Amino acid sequence: MGGLPRVNEVSDFVGRIRDVTGPGAHPLHEPVLGEVEIDFLSKCIRSGFVSSVGEFVTTFEEQLASFLECNAVVAMSSGTAALHIALLTMGVRPGDEVLIPSATFVATANAVAYCGAVPHFIDIEWETLGVDAHALDTHLNAVAVRKGDEVVNRNSGRRISLCVPMHTFGHAVNMSALHDVVREWGIPIVEDAAEALGSSFQNRKCGTFGLVGVFSFNGNKTITTGGGGALATNDRSIAERARHLSTTAKLKHRWDFIHDEIGFNYRMPNVNAALGCAQLTRLKESLQSKRRLFDRYDEIFKGSNLGAMFSEPPDSQSNYWLQTFILHREKSNYRDEILDRCNSDGLALRPLWAPLHTLRPFKNLPRAEMPVTMDLSLRAINLPSSAGIA
Ligand SMILES: *Cc1c(COP(=O)(O)O)cnc(C)c1O
Repeated sequence: MGGLPRVNEVSDFVGRIRDVTGPGAHPLHEPVLGEVEIDFLSKCIRSGFVSSVGEFVTTFEEQLASFLECNAVVAMSSGTAALHIALLTMGVRPGDEVLIPSATFVATANAVAYCGAVPHFIDIEWETLGVDAHALDTHLNAVAVRKGDEVVNRNSGRRISLCVPMHTFGHAVNMSALHDVVREWGIPIVEDAAEALGSSFQNRKCGTFGLVGVFSFNGNKTITTGGGGALATNDRSIAERARHLSTTAKLKHRWDFIHDEIGFNYRMPNVNAALGCAQLTRLKESLQSKRRLFDRYDEIFKGSNLGAMFSEPPDSQSNYWLQTFILHREKSNYRDEILDRCNSDGLALRPLWAPLHTLRPFKNLPRAEMPVTMDLSLRAINLPSSAGIA
């Protein structure tokens, strides 16, 4: 097919997607909703408890903890809120630097900024699309020094207090390589597992590797609570502190309003948790559907001369939250034409997020070299990924 004119190559690409999705409009990711959700929501409304107190919140937290095989889950109003609280419980202070990938959703960097800290951007690797542990080590050796118990950026003088790897599109970061590097430096980890519910690395669930992991249940994630998020941890004192901070730091009392520090109104309302409980009943099946969907895309794009599907990294299981097509390097100039053509045709294809270090609020911040991030941003195309398609 090497000699096909470009317009035919793009048509061929769209045709292959249509072979999988069928006709009509297809958003990037829509939730599966039905009778179960209606049942749970009716029960919640009949109970009279729709706000921040109620049994569905507790049930949702317990079921999620059991699925993740971790000690405690604290449900919150969004993944961003959960990230913010996670960073605070890990002791991130104003003026710190926090290592995060540039190739992530803006929420990761926003949460750092909410703490008064500074994102310090690092690169990813092709194998996982997540943090490149080896490149991180090289970068730290170039810019960081140990001062007592702390790691300091020798250029900025700021403390580097945390690393937040993100499991891109549900593909697991190589957590064992990353642990080797951060352990040596004494830098703790908070996992941004917002996209990775149900993914695992070496048979351990994503979100349970660091002291703290964070999930999102926004409408476009693997399961949804409308809007919502959660913090998962094996450390009960962190869970308690997260619960306290996210419920306005109010002390338990039968009637009095005593708040012992500045807290946040970040708790998940009961009505959202009811939706979450319903969605959890579908989780296993959704994960199977999403894997089936990957298999179909993978099959149909075999023999495409534009590129190939990104498949799960070794030693891991992906939840295949988003299905990602990677253009061959010499075809990266097809990206915008494909996006334009498909979006006009009702297929909501999306590129990678603009690398955060290129965005106005995050320009001129400390960062590593970004060869893979920049390359991926030119070549990644996310395809319609709803579990309902397969
Ligand atoms: C979705 C997402 C979040 C959290 O998003 P919310 O909309 O606040 O729930 C955080 N990080 C990443 C990488 C995400 O994809």
